[in-house]
Parts: sequence; structure tokens; C-alpha cells
Amino acid sequence: MTTSSNVPSILPIVPTQRLFARTAERIFLLIQERGLEAGQKLPSEAELVSLLNVSRPTIREALVALEVVGAVTVRKNVGALVGSQQYFPSSLIDTDEAGPFEQLEARFALEPASAALAAQRRADYVCDALEETIVYMLEEHAEGFQTEIGDRNFHLLIAKACGNALIERSITQLWKMRERSQLWPQLQKLVEIQKWRSKAVYEHMRILEAIRQQDAKAAHDAMLKHLESVKNSFDEAFPK
Ligand SMILES: [Zn+2]
Repeated sequence: MTTSSNVPSILPIVPTQRLFARTAERIFLLIQERGLEAGQKLPSEAELVSLLNVSRPTIREALVALEVVGAVTVRKNVGALVGSQQYFPSSLIDTDEAGPFEQLEARFALEPASAALAAQRRADYVCDALEETIVYMLEEHAEGFQTEIGDRNFHLLIAKACGNALIERSITQLWKMRERSQLWPQLQKLVEIQKWRSKAVYEHMRILEAIRQQDAKAAHDAMLKHLESVKNSFDEAFPK
């Protein structure tokens, strides 16, 4: 029997440490190499991108991860400052968590499609239930709760209503990962939450309207717009 030499018989070995965690470790080493002390500024985001040859979102995830463990403090309009943590924590070496920007990338891939399918296959119960999640969101905002249960339930309901079990499971898994994430709340602290919240309510209403009208394209586009505004709020949170 002959086999083609071009076909690899096994998958290549890829590093298991998450890219943001590896990048965090490299930034930590850079701080030590340069002898930077607590309170001093880290190299700018642009400099870190070119030094470490990774994307801006990865640098941002790495900085948030370093902030969680106290190795860095990110100050809006100032930049990232060296924190007091002296050792690189093992929790960052073996984490299997996808970083917040990686999670958002997956949401971009899944949720506009989920909204379009939900509009196409709209079941009667869905619109009322979606409306209830928006009312709940408004209550959370009015009461000053830090939770985003209304937001989560809105997205999970659409995933359920899309009628594709694989898409539903992937989106549910994503939101579970976000709830377990230590990085996500840290990142949210940097976001102008009130500004984002009132925009989010309006965007949810647009998505709901498109689903009600069974307009798959409008539902897809409204979800895409909503995710873009989440991404923009994160981008604004980071000093360039
Ligand atoms: Zn939302």
C-alpha cells in the first residue's frame, strides 16, 4: 500500500498555553528585563505589538490577565502601569480560558447567524420572552445592579429560538465561559458601562423588532451592529 508523502499522518503539535497567557508571560519578562518598577509605565500598546509580534486584541487580553493577578494596572487615558506582583502566577500558565476578545470573535461568527435563523423560524413565544429580557435589563440598570442577566438571557433565548442545536450549544457554552472568566469582569471595569448599557437596550430593541417582522437580514445586521458596539466600547477602554 502506498501513501502520499504530502499527507501528514498526525496533527502537528501546537502549544497548549493560550496565546494571551503566553503574551502576558512575555510582557512580565519584559518588565523584569527593563528593570521597570511598580508605578512605572509599560511600553505603549503599539510598541508591545511590534516587539511581541501579536495583535492588539492579544496585547489587551494579556494586559487584562496581568491586571487580574496584580502585575499591571491599566488606567484609562494613561496607559498600563507596572503593579506589585513579583512572580508570574502558574494560574496563567495552564489556563484553558479563551480571552474576552477571542470570545467576542466567536460571538461575531455565531450570533448574527443565530439572530437571522431566529427571525426566519420565529416561534410565537419568542418575541414576548425577548421583550421581558429587555424589561429586566432596564430594571437592572435602574437599580444600579452590576449584573448583565437581562443581556445574557436575550442572547441565549435567540440561540434557543434559532432552531439549530449546534449553534445553540456553542453560544450557550460561550456565555458559560464568560461567566467563569476572571478576565471579563476586569475588562468591564474599564468600559464606560452606563454609556454602553443605554446603547445596548436600544440595540436589543432593534434586533427584537427584526425578529418580530421575520426579517432575517435585518436581524443579522442588527446583531452585527450590537456586537460592533461591544467591540468599540472595549477599544475605547484601552489607551493607544
Ligand atoms: Zn446584548
